[in-house]
Amino acid sequence: MVRLIPQAILCLLDRHDPERENVTWDGAGFSGNCRHCGLDVRREKHKVWRRD
Ligand SMILES: [Zn+2]
Repeated sequence: MVRLIPQAILCLLDRHDPERENVTWDGAGFSGNCRHCGLDVRREKHKVWRRD
């Protein structure tokens, strides 16, 4: 995704951005912590991470 919008705004829109190193597979999908707002997030599809 082209970064035209600041991540702080994307977080408010429930579009998060976890650190790749902190992403884990939990049996149902990929989950991690957003590096910007710290929420638990889950991968919905490629490049789309939403609040868990
Ligand atoms: Zn976030």
